[in-house]
Amino acid sequence: MTAAAKSYDGIVIGAGHHGLVLATYMARAGLKILLVERRLMYGGGLATVEATLPGFYHNSHSINHFHITHTPWFQDLKLAEKVAYVTPFYEFGQPHPDGTALVFSREIESTLKSVRHLSKKDAETFREWNRRAEEITAQILIPERFAEPLPQVEREALLEKTAIGRDFLAIARRQPLDVVRELFENDHVKLLFLFKVSLFGTWLTDTLSKTSPMGSVIRAFDLDTGYQLCQGGSFNLARGLMETFIAAGGTFAPQVAIERILIEGGRARGIVLADGRTVRARQFVASTIDVHQTFENLVGRAQLPAAFAAKLDRFQYTGWTLFGLHLALREAPKFAAAEFDPNINRTLKWSIGAETMEDLFAAFEDVKANRVPRIVQFGSGPLSVIDPTQAPPGKHTTYCWHVMPLAPDLGGQDEEDFKREFADKIIATFARYCPNLTRDNIIGQYIYTAKEYTQELINMRGGDIFMGAFNAEQVMYNHFGYRTPIPNLYMAGSSGHPGGANSGGAGYIAAGIIARDLGAKLWWRPLDAAAALGAIAQAA
Ligand SMILES: Cc1cc2nc3c(=O)[nH]c(=O)nc-3n(C[C@H](O)[C@H](O)[C@H](O)COP(=O)(O)OP(=O)(O)OC[C@H]3O[C@@H](n4cnc5c(N)ncnc54)[C@H](O)[C@@H]3O)c2cc1C
Repeated sequence: MTAAAKSYDGIVIGAGHHGLVLATYMARAGLKILLVERRLMYGGGLATVEATLPGFYHNSHSINHFHITHTPWFQDLKLAEKVAYVTPFYEFGQPHPDGTALVFSREIESTLKSVRHLSKKDAETFREWNRRAEEITAQILIPERFAEPLPQVEREALLEKTAIGRDFLAIARRQPLDVVRELFENDHVKLLFLFKVSLFGTWLTDTLSKTSPMGSVIRAFDLDTGYQLCQGGSFNLARGLMETFIAAGGTFAPQVAIERILIEGGRARGIVLADGRTVRARQFVASTIDVHQTFENLVGRAQLPAAFAAKLDRFQYTGWTLFGLHLALREAPKFAAAEFDPNINRTLKWSIGAETMEDLFAAFEDVKANRVPRIVQFGSGPLSVIDPTQAPPGKHTTYCWHVMPLAPDLGGQDEEDFKREFADKIIATFARYCPNLTRDNIIGQYIYTAKEYTQELINMRGGDIFMGAFNAEQVMYNHFGYRTPIPNLYMAGSSGHPGGANSGGAGYIAAGIIARDLGAKLWWRPLDAAAALGAIAQAA
């Protein structure tokens, strides 16, 4: 690491999207910033690889980016000049073995038309809740997602002042799964709705949380906001961010082995590398990696106040991982259910395989018991149909993400054999819904499980793709925090509100906090939760 010879105003650890967002804001504020990364490659979970055949671009980690072009950082950093996104009209789809399909689009009438085929009552429920959800999402959820959370009492007092605030609190105080069960009568509607809820990182484990302070159920009723696909592959977002960071005068150092965070006089002063060199940070050090690596390995428990060490010990990770299967195809998947609704073929996210709520619970119970799920059920999508640049002309890619324990009990079976057999099972299930998902159509396959991704991204502890569970004890006002007990040391990654996934939220919020603490130039206007919630009350 040649950059080590110098000293900087700030050092950011981890060049995933959170690190890139934070480092770029701070560099634009006029600070001399070093962004250090353990790996050769930057981007973290923004990874696109030609893993099967030349010209087939597979996104080995994150694919679906929620409302990303509308985030404050995407706009502040003018990323639209460097990175293109596709916003698909059909967002969530579920084919059924009886030849029907359910498709949620970005527009209410076409969504209701689809729901009405299964249940008129559920369509009416959807309409009623959608109206409220659009308003709540725009006025509460989005501003809160990109602002430092208010303390619970202050937040709830502000929300109690308005009808939408009270509606939101009422639903957020309930268990998401209970709410879904109560609102809908049709199992297929419940299943696709839960699949939509789960994409906010709650899968069944967290929909069983007693409450949902972030309001995941509300967001599943909202259709205006939604998922987008990064053109050419997810890595392009990392590229756009890195170009912006470098243009702002930042320095990137890959393949850096950090031995510890340098603490002198009780303050964070830099990093000490495994080769013995020290890189000094005059003003701050920020970590965007997991809390345990940061505080146990790089800081050391001896430096931590007892209450903070106890908080570290209480920190929870999600108890499931993803088994990924990436396919290169001659032709795109064509569902039998396309005769019923042709839009199913071009819907961004498919939920395939779970036919009943019992099926869904079976996977949950299996993962909890460290078993390979018996009923194959997975998420998928026609990436190259939505973005043809992800495959050679006329050819296609797709993927399957299946929930899986980190190290399932294989009963002595060889791991590589298991992976191949399980991939075959996924393909067999896929083919039940898409008759053209034949071995002849599949020209390449790449299996990428938690075993591989935890080896590359060591911060995804225990296979946790979000680096922290999204349960009521850890979100919003209960999140891990941006400031730490060590002055000048900040957390700016997935452990901070709004948590894991490619929201960029924690990097963006931490930038505002650090800039204010240091008295650095605030060249942007950080979002403020009190102002946003106060404005709703005033307007009411
Ligand atoms: C299979 C899979 C599918 C996913 N799908 C989606 C999706 O569709 N949508 C979505 O929003 N999210 C998805 N995610 C989650 C998403 O990838 C993460 O939430 C996101 O990457 C978190 O960003 P981050 O910047 O916090 O961490 P990361 O992207 O993990 O970046 C952290 C960086 O820190 C580096 N690092 C780790 N340890 C050290 C160290 N000691 N020193 C220096 N550097 C270090 C890592 O190498 C990495 O580059 C998925 C994840 C996986 C694994």
